[in-house]
Amino acid sequence: MDSSYILSTINPVTGFLLALTFFLIWKNHPGKKYILNWSLAFAAGSIGYAFEFFNFFIANFRFANGVNIFLPVSMLLMARGICLRYAGRSPDRLLLSAITFCGMIGCWLSFGDHNALIRGSIVSAGAVVTMIAAMTAILRAPERDRIDLSIFMVLLALTILLPVRPLVSFLIEGAPHIDAIEVTSFWAVSLKVGGLFAWIAFALLFLLRIASDLLSELNAQSVTDALSGMLNRRGFFDTAGSVVRDATPKLPVSVFLLDIDHFKKVNDTYGHQVGDQVIRNVAEALHTNAPESAIIGRLGGEEFAIVLPNTNRKAALAFAEALRMNLERLSHTGVPDDHPVTVSIGLAQGTGNALDELLHDADMALYKAKSGGRNKIEVNGGEAFRDQSTRMPGRLVRALQ
Ligand code: GH3
Ligand code: MG
Ligand code: MG
Repeated sequence: MDSSYILSTINPVTGFLLALTFFLIWKNHPGKKYILNWSLAFAAGSIGYAFEFFNFFIANFRFANGVNIFLPVSMLLMARGICLRYAGRSPDRLLLSAITFCGMIGCWLSFGDHNALIRGSIVSAGAVVTMIAAMTAILRAPERDRIDLSIFMVLLALTILLPVRPLVSFLIEGAPHIDAIEVTSFWAVSLKVGGLFAWIAFALLFLLRIASDLLSELNAQSVTDALSGMLNRRGFFDTAGSVVRDATPKLPVSVFLLDIDHFKKVNDTYGHQVGDQVIRNVAEALHTNAPESAIIGRLGGEEFAIVLPNTNRKAALAFAEALRMNLERLSHTGVPDDHPVTVSIGLAQGTGNALDELLHDADMALYKAKSGGRNKIEVNGGEAFRDQSTRMPGRLVRALQ
């Protein structure tokens, strides 16, 4: 059997299998539209190469435009997937006009008496536009890793090789007429082998990209609290540990432990769902009140922790008091306004201590705040600090509110 038969079947079959693989991955992650685009890209490529197969091996089947249409569409979808993954959107009008314009000229030429090289070059030019759009999306992405750079290199290689192919073909074989292309010609073989290598490179890199994206999402989930969207206990310890260790006597760190007062009563009186909403509201208020540099986490139940780097005792107390007052004033759907939801806060300061140690100190202070009447702030080793806003410089309180 002629080996060209085998070579000609590899691409349609491989394309189909890759389309199926990416389709199955997309079915499990339907939100990731770029995976669907990649699946459709391999499907379109598979159809294009199937036409190429029939052109050569089925007598009287001369539909060269199957390749002209489906391979550029495949590249458009490939590039569209890359743009969606890296830029969140795709320049569809540009991609469509490039592919349609060049494709239509290519199709028109195939009905005339023109040679295959001019047709191929024009169709390739449309594909090059899509590759450039995809490369631009990767370059503009806020961050890139080695997988992204590898995808970029494959796109760059294709951008160079697509115009080089007609040139080499011309130098080796001259300009063949469209009906006289041999299945063993450089023109025909380079299309199949080049396409196959590009597919394998794209498929492997796309699979790596997807696997890495999913792993990052899993990692993010494992450090995020599902109810409030803030760091969970693990995430808080991972992030805050080094900040606490880096503190120096000149730049001390403050650790706050907050616990909602009588929260059980909130649940028992207004229901668990209202309780959940109160937790969300408090979490949101912590983020709005705290400076950008703060590390905030929900350690469990209705207990939160905040680490503020570079904060001396005075600023820490001012922050805690502003926070306490703001939380007290917060209204919660389902909780009457004459039932303010308050918090008690335990504060500890450190200059190079371990996070565990500071949290323990803050916990002791919190315990003191609870047993001393709640809705108040205690500093480990310090005296009670309640309703001292009048003693604090007004400017500082306003700045923190
Ligand atoms: P204290 O002022 O001493 O802190 O009293 P408390 O009632 O707030 O403290 P306690 O630890 O006795 O109760 C905490 C309650 O928080 C008990 C638990 O049912 C509730 N809780 C814990 N996690 C959640 C949650 O995710 N959602 C809701 N709605 N309630 C929760
Ligand atoms: Mg509580
Ligand atoms: Mg508690």
